[in-house]
Amino acid sequence: MKPTHIEHIGIAVRSLKDSIEYFEKVLGLECYAIENVSDQKVKTAFFKIGDTKIELLESTDPEGPIGKFIEKKGPGIHHLAFAMPDVEKALTDAEKEGIQLIDKKPRSGAEGLKIGFLHPKSTGGVLTEFCGE
Ligand code: ZN
Repeated sequence: MKPTHIEHIGIAVRSLKDSIEYFEKVLGLECYAIENVSDQKVKTAFFKIGDTKIELLESTDPEGPIGKFIEKKGPGIHHLAFAMPDVEKALTDAEKEGIQLIDKKPRSGAEGLKIGFLHPKSTGGVLTEFCGE
């Protein structure tokens, strides 16, 4: 299965407020949604650029995935999300190709979409998300 486009790029930030200001003032983009994803222990902010979004991720818990990421690597690009027509099938297909999955089954992410992660060990070091219906 082929992705239709890059759904979003996830960026780990220390401060949603400061980063929103950068995207709005310097790049002229508009933050159209802020959402708490308690499951992932993050607060997210979204910007649209064509079909692609920027997803800013601020940790709400130092023990959460983004909290740990920032402690280890500092803020920066966290993951790349491909839009997939069928997330469950895309995950199954990837596993058949020998890719190590973080999520064997899709779970619910921000914006009511289904998401599933592939392990960066299997994807050239890039934490990869499939995202879609
Ligand atoms: Zn994401």
